[in-house]
Amino acid sequence: MSEKSGIVILGIFAADTAYQAKRLPHIGETLMGSGFTLGPGGKGSNQAIAAAKAGGKVTFISRVGNDPFGAMALSAYAEAGVKANVMKMDGVSSGAAFIFVDEVSGDNAIIVAPGAAGLIGIEDVDANRAEIESAAIFMTQLEQPLEAAIHGLSIAKRAGATTIFNPAPARTIPDSIYALCDFIVPNEVEAAELVGHAIETDEQAGAAARTLVDRGARAVIITLGARGAYYHAGGQSEFVPAFRAGNVVDTTGAGDAFLGGFATAISEGYAPIEAIRFGCATAAIAVTRPGTAPAMPSRSEIDALLR
Ligand code: ADP
Repeated sequence: MSEKSGIVILGIFAADTAYQAKRLPHIGETLMGSGFTLGPGGKGSNQAIAAAKAGGKVTFISRVGNDPFGAMALSAYAEAGVKANVMKMDGVSSGAAFIFVDEVSGDNAIIVAPGAAGLIGIEDVDANRAEIESAAIFMTQLEQPLEAAIHGLSIAKRAGATTIFNPAPARTIPDSIYALCDFIVPNEVEAAELVGHAIETDEQAGAAARTLVDRGARAVIITLGARGAYYHAGGQSEFVPAFRAGNVVDTTGAGDAFLGGFATAISEGYAPIEAIRFGCATAAIAVTRPGTAPAMPSRSEIDALLR
């Protein structure tokens, strides 16, 4: 293990409020649903909990409101062993996600209101500069304002930390960001958005990964859902198959589980392919359980699947 081992993650918390019903209501209509669940969510928050449960030494930078959802976030971090550098703001709500789940097909439709986390800015990064500069890993996504992600990646890169960028949700980004990425980790939809063509075949995944390396990323990992992940760096490509850990009940947050596990493995000095296998194992267990953050596996469960 290298001397630096900390993982610093910048991102949002959003309470996942999931409603099951036979369809979405029309405007003006009240519809009776068949189920409801509440749990901690938000990509950065899920990744932080996944990484800590996998054994990483994790600091999470974010903002929440001074309300019950914010308290839920802070207790989830305490339980998972995440150091929460999370600003608690008065007068603004915590992030929350409305998730409609079709009770028959399981398909979903989501609205994310980032609340306090939408106010994350470069000042949050500057307030944590010393911690980012002494970290082994810095990881972020695109749910909080883009300039905060770029500022964090820049500081981490300059300090010699390994940077992991998850360009999610899908949106266009400035080309200047690629050179700040040691690992850029999109899923198929996000990779398609970045390169401007569909990713349905291995050839298309390979072409997309080469494009992102040409734009300046050191390494690219495209996650391919139940198939696994595609790695490309330094002119080499490798496909890493997914694991099967049991019946799949909820794939929400699979990408976050993968990233949390991957970051922990890289922080422990694993080679990239071995870290991708670790991330795939983490996600394979998470998809056998309902929810996002509560579904993240412990280190002993991940090690058992990898043996
Ligand atoms: P996202 O959740 O961002 O859409 P993916 O669906 O690509 O991300 O999943 C991320 C990773 O999770 C995959 O690379 C794979 O290792 C794992 N994974 C996803 N779905 C399954 C599944 N049904 N069975 C096993 N592993 C899965």
